[in-house]
Amino acid sequence: GLFGVPELSCPEGFQEAQDKALQESEQLVQKACSTPPGPETVMIFDQLSDSLCRVADLADFVKVAHPDFAFREAAEEACRNIGTVVEKLNTDVELCQSLRRLLVDETIMSSLDPETRRVAELFMFDFEISGIHLDEEKRKKAVDLNIRILDLCNEFLIGAHIPNKIDKHVLPEHIRYNFTAEGNYLQVAGLHADCPDDLVREAAYKIFLHSNAQQLARLEELLASRNSLAQLVGYDTFAHRALQGTMAKNPETVRQFLEKLSEQLSKRTQKDFQMMTKMKMKLNPHNSMLMPWDHPYYSGVLRAERYNIDPGLYCPFFSLGACMEGLNSLFSQLLGISLYAEQTKRGEIWSEDVRKLAVVHETEGLLGYIYCDFFQRPDKPHQDCHFTVRGGRLKENGEYQLPVVVLMLSLPKSARGTPTLLSPGMMENLFHEMGHAMHSMLGRTRYQHVTGTRCPTDFAEVPSILMEYFANDYRVVNQFARHYETGQPLPKNMVSRLCESKKVCAAADMQLQVFYAVLDQIYHGKHPLTKSTTEILKETQERVYGLPYVPNTAWQLRFSHLVGYGAKYYSYLMSRAVASMVWKQCFAQNPFDRAMGERYRREMLAHGGGKEPMLMVQGMLQKSPSVEDFVDALVSDLDHDFETFIMDS
Ligand SMILES: [Zn+2]
Repeated sequence: GLFGVPELSCPEGFQEAQDKALQESEQLVQKACSTPPGPETVMIFDQLSDSLCRVADLADFVKVAHPDFAFREAAEEACRNIGTVVEKLNTDVELCQSLRRLLVDETIMSSLDPETRRVAELFMFDFEISGIHLDEEKRKKAVDLNIRILDLCNEFLIGAHIPNKIDKHVLPEHIRYNFTAEGNYLQVAGLHADCPDDLVREAAYKIFLHSNAQQLARLEELLASRNSLAQLVGYDTFAHRALQGTMAKNPETVRQFLEKLSEQLSKRTQKDFQMMTKMKMKLNPHNSMLMPWDHPYYSGVLRAERYNIDPGLYCPFFSLGACMEGLNSLFSQLLGISLYAEQTKRGEIWSEDVRKLAVVHETEGLLGYIYCDFFQRPDKPHQDCHFTVRGGRLKENGEYQLPVVVLMLSLPKSARGTPTLLSPGMMENLFHEMGHAMHSMLGRTRYQHVTGTRCPTDFAEVPSILMEYFANDYRVVNQFARHYETGQPLPKNMVSRLCESKKVCAAADMQLQVFYAVLDQIYHGKHPLTKSTTEILKETQERVYGLPYVPNTAWQLRFSHLVGYGAKYYSYLMSRAVASMVWKQCFAQNPFDRAMGERYRREMLAHGGGKEPMLMVQGMLQKSPSVEDFVDALVSDLDHDFETFIMDS
């Protein structure tokens, strides 16, 4: 069956696997409740979590990626059923009590190793949000709030993607063809950010982002409800709860980080905006004021003008085979790890073109499996993604449960007889996703609750972004990039030009991300909000971003990440800052340094989410970086490489 799970040879098998998991979990709940508090309590909780996750995580992947509808449907059903059970368990007072007895016993707690203690606290953290520790009345309120928040999240997500309609006569005739016609109406489904016609982008921006009373009400109720729930269970604000256990630790640190970053960026951003304005003046002399709908388009024009990077020139050097060789060689030099193609059994994979890799260490042997689902196919979501299918953990019999993950990419299928060729962007994405996979493979946590990538959001992208630095380094690229026909290596100046091209207008791009992150923090900060979310947007946009707010628009109503990343939108920037510091300090001098590779494995990857993230960073950098260090790392990446710059000017 799928992933070698015997029951999953047919869609009906999900029911069987699910029933088995639920049965097992019932026994474990009883065991947890009847076991005296001690390290075994945490072990049982993790077993319980494992029995449910093993089916739910697998189903989570299958429901989006399996080509067979019946499988997707069965997986979806299993996800829902297990989700319901998990919700029930999170409000099971007796189960919670058994964990609480452990947490309040200081003697036992202080005798536990740090990982076990952290995992015990993490499990309690999950209980807490359901208000289980509160009195009857408050608990009822928490349950109601949780249900309401879930509904609001779903409604907001749907609303964030719904196209806006407009009477077609409002738009000049010559641009109407850009939008989908529906009788007398035009549908605007996005920002058309790359359209060369300024007027089309302006129209799309104003219509797509036009304020909508219903969606606005949803957002404001969602934010208020999140705040009420957080306060009910004992936090100052929603952000305080969301940031518990993260690298940043609290909203104050995030605020400082974003504010200092914004300050450091502002001059460079102004320069970027000036360049864009100049370009707009050249192309559209009648209307050259730079507006928010111009930013992505004109930065693209500038990048193309200055570096003229044609992906087609790079692709022949990046065949999929060459890139995988490159990764294999990098991992073997850095970590003593090799990737081997493994035969799959009947029914194990869901599409013929999926490849299974065994990850093997030179002395420790097999570490885990990566299923590579790399190619486009109908009904497959168009996104690059890493899925944990089975978490690693130390089993009761002393064996280690090997981690299993899927890497999903959307590479175009090549014609028969020619290799799959990757654009530079796809190559970088492959390295990025492989960084997540290595985090999963090398995490050797005792508990699957904190396996590999199951770590705080602001740390989760460190291993993957670090791999992007490797992917952009000539010494690394030169090991594998060969023209698939001639065998010729990729010229050095092509690699440096590619790297430099990414820095064009990069300050303005980062400034935009800072603006979004600040907005997210304010929305999830102190309530009641002092103003409407739109007024806050306007004020923050002008203060942190710099391009004018456009009346009657409400960009925040399209900010779907508010749902999944509530109060954590800054995470990507912070992860990038850490990856940048690790790269510069540990690998920039020699990207194949085995001693550094081992340190990286030992201090960062091995712990998954089982160790406080800032301690992992300190272990790696052998110092405790300040907020200023984070900011400097990000900003110095924007500096041009002098040699390449001069050569091209
Ligand atoms: Zn990622």
